[in-house]
Amino acid sequence: MFSIPLHVGFEVYLGLMLAGLTLAVALSYLRGGPTQWKVVEEQLCFCRECHFTFLVRRKANIVRCPRCHSLCRVRPRL
Ligand SMILES: [Zn+2]
Repeated sequence: MFSIPLHVGFEVYLGLMLAGLTLAVALSYLRGGPTQWKVVEEQLCFCRECHFTFLVRRKANIVRCPRCHSLCRVRPRL
């Protein structure tokens, strides 16, 4: 049997954890990484007349509610 001092064991454990983390980050970048994210093209609009929420295009200012056909003003997302 051989014994490992506590500080050496901790260094080995820390080194293995850092190697695993580095490998996970490298695999994430090889699979596309954060460049695969894209901004959603739509946003939510709330109709005040019938309380219906629906998706509209991002650049639309005024849309017609699909349920009650009233005009709804789209508030820009901050
Ligand atoms: Zn409506």
